[in-house]
Amino acid sequence: MTSSKIDSNSDNENHPNETFTGSLLDRVRIVLVNTSDCRNIGSAARAMKTMGLTDLVLVDPLELPNGQAQALSAGASDVLNGARIVKTLEDAISDCGLVVGTSARSRTLPWPMLEPRGCGEKLIKEANEYPVAIVFGRESSGLSNEELQLCHFHVQIPANPDYSSLNLAMAVQTLSYEVRTSFLVQENAQYANKVKSDDEEYPVIEETERFYSHFEQAMKKTGFITPNHPGLIMTKLRRLFNRARPDVKEIKMMRGILASIERAAKDKE
Ligand code: SAH
Repeated sequence: MTSSKIDSNSDNENHPNETFTGSLLDRVRIVLVNTSDCRNIGSAARAMKTMGLTDLVLVDPLELPNGQAQALSAGASDVLNGARIVKTLEDAISDCGLVVGTSARSRTLPWPMLEPRGCGEKLIKEANEYPVAIVFGRESSGLSNEELQLCHFHVQIPANPDYSSLNLAMAVQTLSYEVRTSFLVQENAQYANKVKSDDEEYPVIEETERFYSHFEQAMKKTGFITPNHPGLIMTKLRRLFNRARPDVKEIKMMRGILASIERAAKDKE
């Protein structure tokens, strides 16, 4: 991941697929995309720290955290200063096995949805395996459809339907609270170190993206996708595979199938 840090002294990088012995809360990443008002970044850092979260990633913020952001972060300047800054959303989540996108309104392309409570539960459960992330959008326009399509699930805080858009940091607070609640439930139940069976080992985003590129490449070779008129095929496939959530072995099998299709297409040439 190419990233810079506001304070280069702090280091909270997470690595997937290693035995994780730290706090699960350190593995729940908060990603803020293209934030325009850095005071919201300060307030989000404060919201995170109150709930025990530490991993903040800023995707191309329009304004770098300044004194006002520091002031609003109050005692959470450690979280703010430890924030990593990256160029794209993909950079921010490439090592994550589960990514949840937030949205204040329903989108034209329906996607698997989670309730805030279920979202907290799923994130904490899977944080045992790899880093997980919640992605928050721009103050003005939220997340783009392309960004939302990088996420496995979407979550919507069921606010007043006539006035459903929360302030960015307050949305961070609400969902971080749900993460904490689930963390406490799991900690009390002593489930934290439960190991999942092999067939439920999910790929991280980087692997899934390689699979989609392979799929697109193979479909171009067979002629199913016309390069000049790709239409919505890849978007619909992403939705299908997101819903099915293939595990590592299944992705490997799919890539083997794609390779055999490519070979067959080549033989016909
Ligand atoms: N005007 C934007 C809303 C931006 S609010 C729009 O129509 O999409 C800024 C961010 O706060 C959103 O991108 C989302 O990450 C979060 N947010 C605000 N209200 C939310 C809600 N009800 N549910 C989930 N996330 C919400």
